[in-house]
Parts: sequence; C-alpha cells; structure tokens
Amino acid sequence: MKLETKCVQSGYTPGNGEPRVLPITQSTTFKYSTSEEMGRLFDLEAEGYFYTRLANPTNDAVARKICDLEGGVAAMLTSSGQAANFYAVFNICEAGYHVIMSSAVYGGTFNLLMNTLAKMGIECTAIDPDCSEEELNAAFKDNTRCVFGESIANPALTVLDFEKFAKAAHAHGVPLIVDNTFPTPVNCRPFEFGADIVTHSTTKYMDGHATSVGGCIVDSGNFDWEAHKDKFPGLTTPDETYHGITYTQKFGKGAYITKATAQLMRDLGSIQSPQNAFYINLGLETLHLRMARHCENAQKVAEFLEASEKVAWVNYPGLKSNKYYPLVQKYMPNGTCGVISFGLKGGRKAAADMMDKLKLAAIVTHVADARTCVLHPASHTHRQMNDEQLKEAGVSPDLIRLSVGIENVDDIIADLKQAME
Ligand SMILES: *Cc1c(COP(=O)(O)O)cnc(C)c1O
Repeated sequence: MKLETKCVQSGYTPGNGEPRVLPITQSTTFKYSTSEEMGRLFDLEAEGYFYTRLANPTNDAVARKICDLEGGVAAMLTSSGQAANFYAVFNICEAGYHVIMSSAVYGGTFNLLMNTLAKMGIECTAIDPDCSEEELNAAFKDNTRCVFGESIANPALTVLDFEKFAKAAHAHGVPLIVDNTFPTPVNCRPFEFGADIVTHSTTKYMDGHATSVGGCIVDSGNFDWEAHKDKFPGLTTPDETYHGITYTQKFGKGAYITKATAQLMRDLGSIQSPQNAFYINLGLETLHLRMARHCENAQKVAEFLEASEKVAWVNYPGLKSNKYYPLVQKYMPNGTCGVISFGLKGGRKAAADMMDKLKLAAIVTHVADARTCVLHPASHTHRQMNDEQLKEAGVSPDLIRLSVGIENVDDIIADLKQAME
C-alpha cells in the first residue's frame, strides 16, 4: 500500500460481520477458559490479551498503523509523547550509562534527558545538531548507549542531519533515536536515513484536532543488539523478572518493543487509553490530507512574513533562504510541517503585544492541530530555561512560535497583518 492508503486502511482489517470502524475495546481485562491458557500469556509463551496495561486491541491496531507508516517492525502506544521518549531511552539505558542528545529538542524532552534522567544516574550530553562529525564523535564515551534528536526540532525548527547522526551512532555501536513528531511519516521517514527507533507525540499532527494526549514508539528492527551484546544486557541476557527469557533470542526483531512493553509498561504503566487511541486513529485517517494543507499554508505565511517590514527574522525550513533548505530537499522534499518561528523588529515586548491582538490565531500551549495558534516559548514552554540554555535550544527571547492551521490561508495572513499593524 502507498502511504496515503496506509493512513486510511492500515492496522485494522475486520473479519466477516465485524465492525467496519476500529472498535474501542473499553475493557481492562480479557477472559480465558482455563488457568493454564492464562498462565502461558504471563510467561510470554502465547500471544493474547489479558490486561490493558500490557496490551489492548484498539491500541495495538493504532500502533500497527503508525508502525506501517514509518516502515518499522514493531510499535507501541504510550499515554504521552513524554512517556514515549522516556521509555525509548530508558529501555536501553540504566544508571551508569550516558546519552547524547541534540541540544535543539522540545523543552520537555530537554528536561527529561538532562535533569530527570540524571536523578536516575543516566548522564546526558547536549550537542549542537549542526556540529561537525569530529565534534559529534568526540561526544561519545565508553558508556554511551544512544543518540537522540528531533527530525524537525520543536520550536527551534532545526532539521536533523540523519545520516551524520546515524553514522556516528553506528560507528560507536549504539542506536539513533529520532522524535519524528513534526514532519510525521507523511513527510519524513527517518528509518530510510539510518535512524533505528522513532518516537512520536501523537498529540500533535497525528491526532490533529487537539483532543488526545498520546505517544508512540516504533522500532525499525535494524539495530543489531546481539552484535553489541555487552552494551545492551537488558535485551541480550536473561530477564529474571520474566522467567529468564532473553528478549533478542526469543523475539528477534521484536525484542526492543517486547521488552518496553513487558518491563517498562508493566512497571511504570503509562498506557494509552483505548478511547484516546480511537481518536488518534481518526486523525491518522486524514493525516496525509492535513499535512499537505498545513505545509501549503505555512509556506505562504512564511513568505508573507519574510516580505513584511515589521518582521526581523523568519525561520521556516520550507523557505529557500533557510539554512536547512538543503537538508529539507534531501530528507523531506514533499514538505516539512506547519510550524513557523519568527521575531518582530520590536523584540520580546512587540511579540507579546502582537499576540494579544490576534483574533483568529489563539494563544494556546499547543502546536500542530487544525486551528492556527501561537505561543511565546520563552514565557511559556521553555520558561524554566536560563538564557544560555535557551540559546543552546535555539530559542531566542523574541521567538514567536506560529502553528499554521488548515483554515483558508488568506484569513490567517489577514489576522497576522492586522495584529502586527
Ligand atoms: C509535544 C512534544 C513532545 C511531548 O509530547 P506530549 O504528548 O505533550 O507528552 C515531545 N516531542 C515533541 C517534538 C513535541 O512536540
């Protein structure tokens, strides 16, 4: 199936007389005829549902669809994008290990990897995503276990050079994890350029209507854990909490997601609700149509802003003048995302004043849904960062993050124009 068809059809195929639309299995538990049958499920000896924290048919169908869209081998849903990124890293890192992170990542992710993981004994080095190969290679240590970046960073809009990051990660025997929330698999599939694990905040374009917080982790199945056996004992040696099974031996390419489900979801429990998974699936059915319109509108808005004399600077990877335009041509030639950042000549004060005057675009702590919205990261999402950290994250104090929706673009531009005037 082509990508557009997968958006609509993947993940769920009803049998004769079954519901045409993905049913919401709103049940915590599942019934078995014999104690023996249920026991085999707990031993991971048989496949089947027994408790929704570990697996649920609605969630599984939606995970399968996202897995198909990314071109992966296995996937799982989580209750949020934050949970997805935490599990993706924690599944292969424990106290004493080290992570390399692009410094231009979402504020929540920066905090998670830099501060919260530090409390668990996992050290993180932030590196400028535009660094040279030499600088990147120099950041690795003996205990490094993964490299983390965002395909298009929120809100810095830095485009990750996947091949540079994948090459360095693989040369050091560790996987590259990429948060692909902003372009979505409609515009970019990081596995095609060497990423090993992909994560999503499905809260954004995938849901697309700002109804449901959620996340997803997809495994490409390409990273050879056994070839780096000593680095990843959690996957390559017996798990005594699961009757001594070794994930790589028992589950092959499914090892990483099976471990994240059987261990992390079992113990930490950030499960997606089946009701929310249903909403995410509705969003996915039109993702290809919406992404095209988001990108078309954002391109026109970015060009309008670039031409405006009130605007100091515009950052949109789809603009020919953008620093990342060559990487965009290579990794996401059909479009990037609907998010633009820009600054006004009046700086931080003008940004706040202008935002207050908007009528159509709403000030919300959200991004990437059907309705145009704005946010001032330095006052909102990145409030806890000092100026130095803001700079590292690519967020200047005057930066306005504009998430261009799928309304008529003339109305969006008219709103910006009147507010700026
Ligand atoms: C929003 C976002 C997250 C966090 O996701 P939640 O669903 O809000 O927990 C992580 N990464 C990126 C790139 C995001 O935009």
